[in-house]
Amino acid sequence: MIDAATREFVADRANHRCEYCLLSRADYCWSFHVEHIVPRQHGGSDSLGNLAYACPRCNRYKGPNLTAIDPHTGRIEELFHPRINTWEDHFQIARGTIIGISGSGRATVRLLQMNDENRCELRRELLG
Ligand SMILES: [Zn+2]
Repeated sequence: MIDAATREFVADRANHRCEYCLLSRADYCWSFHVEHIVPRQHGGSDSLGNLAYACPRCNRYKGPNLTAIDPHTGRIEELFHPRINTWEDHFQIARGTIIGISGSGRATVRLLQMNDENRCELRRELLG
């Protein structure tokens, strides 16, 4: 069970932005989730090192997955881990589109459908 103080801490730590697609809570109509990076069904804990702040779409598409396929190589890659990995090492953003620059980045972009039309549109408006 994640209490209110923990949720607050996780949201503040992320500057109230989704730790995967960078959308800000303030720009989104739905409430964000505190998600388990390693899902509970895989033994992930409620510790702060396993929690991330995520928008509803990233959270939904990520689901219980730990890995995804890199569309360039066809290889199975671990998903981006917001507590262990650095966003800039795995992704770039250009005109609202997020580009995976590592196997893990590409696999995560595709699984989380980070570049579906509406999300690019929104990001272009917000980030330029
Ligand atoms: Zn997101």
